[in-house]
Amino acid sequence: MRRPLPDVLPIRWPEGLPSPPAETEQALDRAARVLVDGGLVAVPTETVYGLAARADDPVAVGKIFAAKGRPSTNPLIVHVADTPMARRLAAAWPDAASEIAARLWPGPVTVVVPRGRSIPDEVTAGGSTVALRCPEHRLTRRLIEKAGVPLAAPSANRSLAVSPTTAAHVLESLGNRIDLILDGGPCTRGIESTVVDCTSVPPCILRPGPISREQLETLLGQPVVLAPEPTDARQSGSAARSPGMHARHYAPKTPLVLSATAATHVADLLAAGKRVGWLTTAPDAAEPRRLSASRDLLVIPMPADPDSFAARLYATLHALDKRELATIVVDEPPDTDAWRAVRDRLTRAARR
Ligand code: AMP
Ligand code: MG
Repeated sequence: MRRPLPDVLPIRWPEGLPSPPAETEQALDRAARVLVDGGLVAVPTETVYGLAARADDPVAVGKIFAAKGRPSTNPLIVHVADTPMARRLAAAWPDAASEIAARLWPGPVTVVVPRGRSIPDEVTAGGSTVALRCPEHRLTRRLIEKAGVPLAAPSANRSLAVSPTTAAHVLESLGNRIDLILDGGPCTRGIESTVVDCTSVPPCILRPGPISREQLETLLGQPVVLAPEPTDARQSGSAARSPGMHARHYAPKTPLVLSATAATHVADLLAAGKRVGWLTTAPDAAEPRRLSASRDLLVIPMPADPDSFAARLYATLHALDKRELATIVVDEPPDTDAWRAVRDRLTRAARR
């Protein structure tokens, strides 16, 4: 069924203003009505754009899976306006969740806790836990308050593709499959939230993200473990616990290679007559400078600090997908806690 393209409504909330400008309030009111009526709205958050539906309505939640082409076995994160709203959705509130909510919310970290009765099966893929997050983005929280219901919201892209960090990315990926897009500008964090399972002892990071393991350990005063590296659920035949756990995910259409010897890789590809994009944190080193004499090479300078790298990563991949390259080569980032989330996304993007 063909639908018209959704309206894209700009929203903003300049620092220092006690409430958003009138046009933004009107846009949020309209979005809240669409959500309350069971529709789909793409919303900016500090991590990536989310595709939101009211989390308490199985029919509305079902539309998210249909629009994304997402397998129903993959649970969704429920976004809340504050901690009291989160607690109402949980059957229990473990100490780790309590600490994380008190110290890191609103923020880019999701807690997995025992599921309360108001959460439908569709949200949790039938599981006994629910993932909850209170976003840092003030306009996202204001929208949730206006809607008056928690919002289930995975990334606003077709399943397994690169997540959107601008409204334009959402329009390209989901276009006429959704009802409305709120455009709050580029996402500041640029990668998905850290997901922490607070039902296990010690707490377990199911998906690395902007809040690092080190930060969580310091905050919780106890060890925090990392879930094992991805194995391909499709190959092993077992159901994926979540989309972030798919071995291949976050992938551009152009093949991506993660390499500790990127210069050699790039040189070989150029010698074979291929067009190459090279994401490097050292664009001024000898090799990139020498190789960039080739018209078939696009050297993309990337920030050397992991948070800035993350903020720019998806927008860079979206842009390179339009350049008709044979391969995107990326310098392998250091194997350290600070780079964990970026390494995770790049590793999955590189899987074929
Ligand atoms: P996305 O919606 O694309 O940001 O991905 C949602 C992420 O939420 C997945 O990668 C999971 O790690 C996580 N998630 C959501 N619900 C649960 C749950 N009940 N148990 C474990 N992980 C969950
Ligand atoms: Mg996603």
